[in-house]
Amino acid sequence: MKNSYFLFLGISFLFISVLDYFHLIVYPGMNIISLSGPNASTQFWISARLMQALSFLIAPRFFKRTLHVYRTIIIYALVTAALLICIIYFRNFPTTYVPGIGMTQFKNAAEVVISVVFATAMVLLSRYRSRLNNSLLLFLKLSFLLTILSEFFFTSYVSIFNMESVIGHLIRLSAYYMFYKAIIEIGLSQPYQLLFLETEELSLRKDEFINIASHEIKNPLTVIKLYAEHLNKNLKPVLDAKNRQALSQIDRQTDVINHMVNDMLDASRITTGKLSVVPAPCYVDEIIKNTVTEMRQIISDHRIVVHIQPHIRLYGDIDRLHQVFTNLIANAAKYSPPGKRIIVTLKQQRSRAIITVQDFGQGIPREHQGHIFEKYYRTPQGEQTAAGLGLGLYLSREIITRHSGRIWLKSTMGKGTTFFISLPIK
Ligand code: ADP
Repeated sequence: MKNSYFLFLGISFLFISVLDYFHLIVYPGMNIISLSGPNASTQFWISARLMQALSFLIAPRFFKRTLHVYRTIIIYALVTAALLICIIYFRNFPTTYVPGIGMTQFKNAAEVVISVVFATAMVLLSRYRSRLNNSLLLFLKLSFLLTILSEFFFTSYVSIFNMESVIGHLIRLSAYYMFYKAIIEIGLSQPYQLLFLETEELSLRKDEFINIASHEIKNPLTVIKLYAEHLNKNLKPVLDAKNRQALSQIDRQTDVINHMVNDMLDASRITTGKLSVVPAPCYVDEIIKNTVTEMRQIISDHRIVVHIQPHIRLYGDIDRLHQVFTNLIANAAKYSPPGKRIIVTLKQQRSRAIITVQDFGQGIPREHQGHIFEKYYRTPQGEQTAAGLGLGLYLSREIITRHSGRIWLKSTMGKGTTFFISLPIK
């Protein structure tokens, strides 16, 4: 996984905790190591906070980049070692506490810088919100805010033993708790949600690409189609049979590509919520009759039989319903052997129009029946039989649902498939 945000933070926390450990053991009240009194303890505190704030500032870079783990560990180890040497051995880290006077200006300025870095890290994190789960982002931000608040208490105390210091530490504790909630509870116990967000983003990018590519293909395709029609009209009388067939193949195949491109554009319109379905009063029997007439010209090796009850009026988008019926009849032809019948029926059942498209083809295995309305879904049998994108039924279901209708199927392997559509009559 490319997202190394948490891995980077994990490494940084390992070294921050080393500094925090020294902050604790050199603290005068602990009586473990005695250095320069509270000064060294506060120096470790400031170093740890600065390292933490900077780590949070850098971490979002690794939402997109792969982390060089060993290189990161070495850099953190070197910085931590340098700080330890400066504070314990050379004692040349700027003074943070002077007994009798209190915290130095350096210490207070450092706390302000730390707060500003935390605030910047928080703003930066918001830019990557699409990569984080909402509650994780909320807990991380709360943790940042509490950290900034605790810094405020640490700048306002004089002695390290007084009330502000205690409150500061308590707030810092709650900041750690929020961080724990974000990383451990959400990041680790529900990591699939983070993965899901990544997959979702990839899928959005793929949709975007398909959308742009389809638009680009559509323009030259329209030109090819126009010229093919032009040549068909003007050259047909003078061409011999072979060339005439070649020309009509160009025309027909252009229609096939056009159909695929339109399906891809419609699928991306569904994703962006821009698929237009504009219902108006219409006769569904007319739409079916027109579709069948059109399909009879395209499908020559199947017999399309119709049983249609006339004058069924409903509220529908003529072009979109035509698209659905075309797809079902085209599928019936695609997935059944030549010579077989395709039966299309329409009848009124109480307040609904019921349309069926039946074929006598290969059938759809039971385990795939629940999936074939999904985007890009194709059955292995379907893939072997004919080319397709697996978008027709996905679009059909969306269009029918937008008409407050329902689409379903019954299929028996080796015997055939019937698709049913139920639409409300107005
Ligand atoms: P496409 O036909 O382009 O693959 P569809 O969304 O129209 O896309 O259909 C999805 C899949 O459902 C097809 O690939 C095929 O496997 C299966 N399918 C659809 N209609 C039929 C049918 N009438 N008979 C058998 N399988 C079908």
